Parts: sequence; C-alpha cells; structure tokens
Amino acid sequence: MTVRTRVAPSPTGDPHLGTAYMALFNCAFAKKHGGQFVLRIEDTDQARSTTESEQVIFDALRWMGLEWDEGPDIGGPYGPYRQSDRLDHYTKHAAELVERGQAFHCFCSTARLAELRRAQQSAGETPRYDGHCLGMDESDKVRRVESGEAHVIRLRVPDDGECTFEDGLRGAITIPWQQVDMQVLVKSDGYPTYHLAVVVDDHQMDITHVLRGEEWISSVPKHVLLYQYFGWDMPSHYHLPLLRNSDQTKMSKRRNPTSINYYQRCGYLPEALLNYLALMGWSMPDEREIFGFDEMVEALDVDRMSTGAPVFDTEKLNWLNGQYIRGLSSSAFMDRVADWAINRARLEELVPLIQERTERFIDLLPQVDYLLGERAEITRASFVHKGLGESDCLRILDHVLRTLERTRVWQRDDLFEELKSLAEAMDVKFRDFLFPLFVAVSGREISLPLFDSMAFLGSDLTRTRIRTAIDALGGLSKKETRRLERAFQELDG
Ligand code: GLU
Repeated sequence: MTVRTRVAPSPTGDPHLGTAYMALFNCAFAKKHGGQFVLRIEDTDQARSTTESEQVIFDALRWMGLEWDEGPDIGGPYGPYRQSDRLDHYTKHAAELVERGQAFHCFCSTARLAELRRAQQSAGETPRYDGHCLGMDESDKVRRVESGEAHVIRLRVPDDGECTFEDGLRGAITIPWQQVDMQVLVKSDGYPTYHLAVVVDDHQMDITHVLRGEEWISSVPKHVLLYQYFGWDMPSHYHLPLLRNSDQTKMSKRRNPTSINYYQRCGYLPEALLNYLALMGWSMPDEREIFGFDEMVEALDVDRMSTGAPVFDTEKLNWLNGQYIRGLSSSAFMDRVADWAINRARLEELVPLIQERTERFIDLLPQVDYLLGERAEITRASFVHKGLGESDCLRILDHVLRTLERTRVWQRDDLFEELKSLAEAMDVKFRDFLFPLFVAVSGREISLPLFDSMAFLGSDLTRTRIRTAIDALGGLSKKETRRLERAFQELDG
C-alpha cells in the first residue's frame, strides 16, 4: 500500500497556522512512509471561498517549506483537486444514496428548523433534525422536486445503537447514534457539504491516512456511515490536538495572531515556526526541542504524537526563533534579513513617503521605525482626544477591523475608499475617525501618511495592531462585541 495523506484547507480567509500545522504532520507522515502528500482545496462554502485566499494558502505553505506532490496548482493523477471542480462526483454519489434510501430529500423551511431548534434547546435536548421528511411519499417528493421547491439531501442515521471507530491516537471511540444528526449532505444550492465531499474525495484520491484536527471527532460517525453505505474502506484517522490560547480555548485571532503572513512579516524564520508547530503535537525520542523537518521525518512515530492541548506560547516561539537566528552564519544572517524586509524592492515602497520628508539621512530611521519595527507601546492615555471618548475610539477600531477583515485588495486607494465610506456611514468626521487608527497603526498621533503605512505593513500586521489597540483600551466584552457587530451590520444593511 502506498501511503497517501492530504491537507484540505478551506480558502476562506488568511492562511491559518492550523493549516500549516496539519500540513506539516501530513507531509512528514507521507515522507516517512515514502508516500505522497496531497493538497486539496475545500471550497464548497461558495459565499466565503475566494481564489485570492487559495493563492495565499499556496504561498504561505511554500514559504514554510511545505511542498505537496499533487494539488490544484500542480495537478496530479487524482485531479481535479479543488472541490468546486468535482461537483459531478458528489451529485452522482448523493443520488446513489437517495436511490438506496440511505439519504433523503428534506423540504423543511429555515423557519421550521429554527423553531425545532428552539424547542429542543428549551427542553434541554441537543438540537437535531427530527426526521420530519423521512417518510415522505415518493410521488409527493418527485412532484415537489420537479416543481423546483428548495430542498436539501440529508443522511439517514440509525435510530439507536452506537458507532465505534478507531482513532490512531486515542484508540476506540464510541458515540451513540442518538447524538448524530441527520446531516445535510447536499445544500439547497446543489453544493455538497464538507461531510459528503470529504468522504468521496478521500476515497477517490486513495487517501490512506487522515491526520486532521480533533474538532472533527464528533463527525466521524457520519463519515463511517457514508463509507459503509458506499461499501468503501475507510482510511485510518488520527485526530491531532488543536492549538490553544493560554486560557486553553481554541487558538483564535482575537487572542493570538493566527495568520502565517503575520509571522512572516514579523521576521520569524519559517524553519523555526515549523519546528515550533512540530513541538505542538509531537516530541523527539530524545526530547530535543530544536530539530529540522528532515530529522522529524526520520524520527516520526505516531506513538510520540500527543493528544494533550498544546498552548501556542509566543514567548517560547520567540526563544526558539532566537536560537535559529543565532545559529546563522553572518552571511546567512544578512541574507535572511534581506529576504525579510531590508531589500531594495521593499524599501523602494517607502521612497515616495520618506524622500520628501528627509533633510539628513540620519532622520530616516525614526520616520520608519513603526513600519520596519514594532509599534511603540500604547496605553489608554495614547487615545485621549478632544472630540472622541474611549468608547468612540473602540467603536471606530471595531468597525475598521470588521471592514478590513473583508477587504480583499490591500492597496492604498482601496483602503482609503473603504474607510472613508465607513466614516461617512458612522457619521464621524474623517479627521476624528482617523485619530484612533493613527495611534493603533503607528503608536503615534502623527506619522507618515496612514493609508500608505497600512498598505506597507500589509493586512495581517495592520489588523493585529488594531486588535491590540482595542486591548490597550481595555478590550471588548462578549456583550459589547455582539452589540458592535449588530451596529456594524445595520450600517452595512
Ligand atoms: N476543510 C476542512 C478544514 O478546513 C478539512 C478537515 C479535514 O482535514 O478533513 O478544517
């Protein structure tokens, strides 16, 4: 048997550290066994998937030194490797399930489902589809489908008993069928959900080992059923522990930067970041903490993979990165600094901003310190302003962040247009509106032009600075976040 593994990111935003973490383990596992590592793009969420995001995932994984043997950008014998190019396969397989009575059409309206969920929740039950459309008369169903009535296709799940499956890291896991929902397999837009697509693809791409995040454990029974219904062998599954914030919650960008690009921009070395991610789920037999990818492959053994909840600790990562930096020869050090940002192409972007403001070269560095280096420390006091209170500053920063999170083209003029219309919608004078943003981005009240600075810093650093500025202002409670989210949606609507 040839070992085949895959990583299957959804291109719905920034290239996430979690994707690199999963890619690392899948890639190392395939290499260890002389097999192949596949990159598959799971873009069945049509509303959220973008091709820009797909490209940044490719770039970020390559920057980290992770290469795939097959994928949407390089092709391979099991293509296509992008789910939106494989719709025929899912439609065909869903039809087979329906034909055999293993899946069924469901016409329930969103209103009915919401009502059902409410009733179940207030009765203290786990929300779950109640099988309303399960026994529908065949002719009735055909008539409704033919008349174009919106519907989904759901998985048929046993009423009682339990599902037991093997997890390569945790052993046997048992989940009662009562806890498994009659999962939607095909949405009303005709697109498959993750659950159908992942099973069809893993099978058709001959994937032998699935190493993925532990958040999928509860979905395994649905996948077990699908493999049984199709009569296919199931690959071995290993659910790796998720990266955590220091309070043990799932690592999220609200607490820690999660975009690989952020780490690149801050000057982490990819090999150090990769080494750190390896330590999150595995340890060397001799407990050595510093090791390269090839050494990891050499020593890789599933028994040494852990299921504990690894805390992503920036201080430890900084220490490790420092070890790598100190290990470079002087010439490699200079090359790496140049690769990072001190290079002609990158500095050229600054020339239009600084040349006209320079009388002596010695004045250059202080002007660009916050662009090439960290922003100065900011506190509540940095936000004191004659026209705006703290809550105004928080509201502006929150809404700017929401706007920037969906900004696809990160260029000066586009950023300017987006934020100018936001200020108008919020009915705040543009000059005032810019104040908290200046502070958040540069740590100062006066800096080089704001929009050029944001363009230079890039999306990830800019957004992280805004997030930490919100923290410097005392942060936002869950309740306030929800209130601001609603206010933002109203502006938008
Ligand atoms: N698209 C899924 C994700 O992004 C993949 C999960 C899996 O590896 O099966 O988490």
